[in-house]
Amino acid sequence: MAVTGLRSADVPTLPAHPDPGTDRIMDSGLLHELSYAFDGPFHFLLPHRFDANLTAFRAALDDAGVAGRVYYAKKANKAAVWAERCAAHGAGVDVASVPELREALGHGVRGEHLVVTGPAKSDTLLRLAALQGCLVAVDALDELDLLVTLALTGTARPARLLLRCLPSAQRHSRFGMTAAELTTALDRCVRAGDAVRMEGFSFHLSGYAVRPRADLAGELLDHCLRARGLGLRADRISIGGGFAVDYSSARHWRTFLAAQRPAHYHAHKTFEADGFYPYHSPVAGADALRAVLDTVPAGGRTSLGDRLKETGTLLMTEPGRALLDGAGASVFRVQGVKERDGYRILTVDGTSLSLSEQWFNSEYLPDPYLVTPDGRARGDAVHPACVGGATCLESDLLTWRKVPFPARPRVGDLLVYPNTAGYQMDSNESPFHDLPLPPKVVVDRPGPRPRWRLDRRPAR
Ligand SMILES: *Cc1c(COP(=O)(O)O)cnc(C)c1O
Repeated sequence: MAVTGLRSADVPTLPAHPDPGTDRIMDSGLLHELSYAFDGPFHFLLPHRFDANLTAFRAALDDAGVAGRVYYAKKANKAAVWAERCAAHGAGVDVASVPELREALGHGVRGEHLVVTGPAKSDTLLRLAALQGCLVAVDALDELDLLVTLALTGTARPARLLLRCLPSAQRHSRFGMTAAELTTALDRCVRAGDAVRMEGFSFHLSGYAVRPRADLAGELLDHCLRARGLGLRADRISIGGGFAVDYSSARHWRTFLAAQRPAHYHAHKTFEADGFYPYHSPVAGADALRAVLDTVPAGGRTSLGDRLKETGTLLMTEPGRALLDGAGASVFRVQGVKERDGYRILTVDGTSLSLSEQWFNSEYLPDPYLVTPDGRARGDAVHPACVGGATCLESDLLTWRKVPFPARPRVGDLLVYPNTAGYQMDSNESPFHDLPLPPKVVVDRPGPRPRWRLDRRPAR
């Protein structure tokens, strides 16, 4: 302790919001069974939470009286179950590659319910999209030309498209078209005649702020009116994703940020505080959509919601992370415990490649739970430990922070990282060291005796 200057009582904590569904699973004994069966780390998925998030987004649109559609941004998690849920609910999916498109179709999502985003889409992707009646968010003029050529020479016409705008507030973005390019694009759409159906405009902003989204949506509505004047359909806009997830309470997040310092991390590792994801957001998920709809776009007089209604414009949203809020967690088994000066180094049976935040010079901060064979560890004791992966890399830590566990972690205990479905669990996964990718388990009934199944059947 003297070496690090760390006193147990000082170790900051960042508890995730309580989640009774996840608690019941942790208390059911299922996780130890599965850890034994898989002999390695795994993730569990909670589709009822995805359904609830989707319902909340739709309710935000309905309550504002706005016609709208929700498209799950597929890159946020690769599991099959999300596309299955979208198909079951008639929701859309936002795809950006041929395999993503194929997956969505294969799990029952109709082509007309897909929006294809991403830069410089390949011929193959554009052709598939046109044949399946998907809506293509065109990112550049050469892409538009390719799509028009495909539609003119193929059997798939009209090619449905949106024009993606370069946001004036993010001028350095590599995505979207400038005002001059949009003018040219509109002209080319007019000249393409019935080969294309120009359905509107789109953007996707980084960050989570409400105001820039409402402002830019207002600009897109003006673009729609201009395009309609040219005889184009332009009856919808897409405002992309970027609806924040609220992982922890305001009080915990504030206290954590104020308290944390290098002594609280293994090897005195430092992270830029503004490089952390904002683990608390006062306005998140579907409420962020409500706030966007309630905002009066710059230069206007009425709220975005009212302007959408007045202009008869449909609103598309593409949430990724927000639809996955609470919809999954990641489970690792402790396979080694080392004592250091006043804390412990745990080594688990997986790697930080299954917790992506480390790959953005940052750290996934919500506290993992310690689940012993007898159930969740609880109490006021503080046993600080960081969490390393089972690899030969000095930098492979799932958690550099010394987490204040309420009991002394032992080999065979499980660590459950809560709320990891959005981008954490599989964005950066890799079979490094020939370790298999962690399987995903779908928990269909999170009661006292949860029912589970594999997200995908093993290959035959
Ligand atoms: C990544 C992405 C999204 C989803 O973003 P989230 O922050 O997960 O909501 C939506 N649309 C586009 C075009 C994207 O690239």
